[in-house]
Amino acid sequence: MTTSTILVTGVSGFIAKHCALELLAKGYRVRGTVRSAAKADAVRKTLAAHGDVAKLEFAVADLLSDDGWADAATNVHGVLHLASPFPLAQPKDADELIRPAVDGTLRVLRAATAAGAKRFVQTSSSVAIVHGHAHARTAPFTEADWTNLDGPHVTAYARSKTLAERAARDFVAAEGRSLHFSSVNPGFVLGPVLDADIGSSADLIVSCLRGKYPGCPRLSFAVVDVRDVAKAHRLALETSEPSGGRYLAVSGAAWFKDMMLPIKARLGDRAKKLPSRDLPNLAIKFIALFDPAARTIIPDLGVEMRIDNTATRKALGMEFIGIEESAPAMAESLLRLGLV
Ligand code: NDP
Repeated sequence: MTTSTILVTGVSGFIAKHCALELLAKGYRVRGTVRSAAKADAVRKTLAAHGDVAKLEFAVADLLSDDGWADAATNVHGVLHLASPFPLAQPKDADELIRPAVDGTLRVLRAATAAGAKRFVQTSSSVAIVHGHAHARTAPFTEADWTNLDGPHVTAYARSKTLAERAARDFVAAEGRSLHFSSVNPGFVLGPVLDADIGSSADLIVSCLRGKYPGCPRLSFAVVDVRDVAKAHRLALETSEPSGGRYLAVSGAAWFKDMMLPIKARLGDRAKKLPSRDLPNLAIKFIALFDPAARTIIPDLGVEMRIDNTATRKALGMEFIGIEESAPAMAESLLRLGLV
């Protein structure tokens, strides 16, 4: 068993808490960053309910400031860099997302390099791969594709994740060659939430369970289970593959309705407000007049996502949990926590 210390940035986040658990279970020491010390107790309590937290510690640092990152990175073997803003609705000013994503990533990379860390895994996203391409495209997206920032309808969030991953790769090529770098690019993350601090992907499922949506938008996107995202981060940290790997953490693509039906099948009456019929595109356009989150999906309505994770499965030697399990597991955890 290893005793190396791994820095997990944004450990209060939905995915990062699972990453911390995955690392602790494998014997790593975990130093999680929080923006304010007040959050640390809640994270410790959550993780203690699911694993042994004797090797868990915290550091305080914000992506928008240099303060705290040097201390946070001291004596770490590796970094999982998850912290980044992920809102469902896009801000008016894209820099609200781009600055913490890009400048924050560079801050963490500089601190990790200066501290002599050996490994760095950046949490990027499938949105750094699939945006800005022609809708007529039929070839599946793979790790080799990049979001086209000059293409149409690239959201501020997709821009922030693409620019952050590009900036990280440029930094490593220029100044961080001592670092073994990879990115994990997850699709929309489902699977169990661990506490009430749930993040945006679970927010969407809460809204569905509360009956906010009268039907399912004809929207198709890449999906993945949070337990697999955590495992992919650990495997990327440990891999003997060369530096520079890009790992597409997706179980496949699904229509919005494909996400709802397994929840209904498992939860029955407990999910009676969940939408299960297709919603005409015209209705979404009407909803978008009042709902900024709905506005961002309009260009993608009716466009089928095709995505191929073969290379990642082979490189990391893992299989992915399907949506039939990951969607109901998220819904069940939300109900168990009384969040619906
Ligand atoms: P959460 O919102 O749950 O977590 C985001 C984390 O980032 C929180 O810990 C948050 O801290 C932290 N953070 C945000 N802004 C700052 C800042 N200025 N300084 C320091 N920390 C900050 O989201 P997820 O767990 O879902 O996302 C984690 C990562 O995974 C992100 O990089 C996201 O882009 C990526 N991702 C998520 C997907 C998903 O479907 N969930 C899909 C693909 C990628 P605080 O608790 O203080 O707000």
